[in-house]
Amino acid sequence: MFGSPGMPAGMDHPLDMTRAFYPSVTPMRSSRGLALTHTSHGSPKSSDMKYLLGYSDELQNKVRALTDAGKLGDMLQQRYPDAHGVRNDRALYAYVMDLKNTYIRNGAQVNKVAFDSKLQVIAHALGQHTTISRVQGSKLKTKHEIRVASVFRETPEAFLKMIAVHELAHLKEKHHDKAFYKLCELMEPNYHQYEFDLRLYLTHLDLPGAKALWTA
Ligand SMILES: [Zn+2]
Repeated sequence: MFGSPGMPAGMDHPLDMTRAFYPSVTPMRSSRGLALTHTSHGSPKSSDMKYLLGYSDELQNKVRALTDAGKLGDMLQQRYPDAHGVRNDRALYAYVMDLKNTYIRNGAQVNKVAFDSKLQVIAHALGQHTTISRVQGSKLKTKHEIRVASVFRETPEAFLKMIAVHELAHLKEKHHDKAFYKLCELMEPNYHQYEFDLRLYLTHLDLPGAKALWTA
């Protein structure tokens, strides 16, 4: 139903100024994962790189050089020219269920999937996955809800997929450990690349005067 997202990492692209980054992109430290609570990261040196704290200093410096040169937005647009077409909650539900049915058929049921304009990407996370357990009759009923921050309504499919994959993986793996990321990579081999690029976009959006790159 949905075409393959964006441009695969490592694909030859004459305008790919970022190629130098990619050999050194390493997975987020498992303890941090997507949860972005920054209270303990007060270093002024890193304040402009708050979405990239899980990556090496070297990589952060490369990104800073791009932002200083005003080129981060252009680079992202060249790498991902098109926005996805998942515009409302209904389409988002279908998109997520399509992925779930392909990769984790025997996983827990997902009751709700929605864009959430109140979900603060900084304060909480990129997406949110809630599990509500309650006893109904003699059975313990568990409800799963997946919420996606509405900033990702207008992004390349690669970013939406990264978040969907991340939240779906939590249906089976609670913590950001090896098994969790293995499942993410099963659903999307470019998972780590997409997460990095998505974080680059959030970094771009935080720059003074920055505009959304894929507005409808
Ligand atoms: Zn997570």
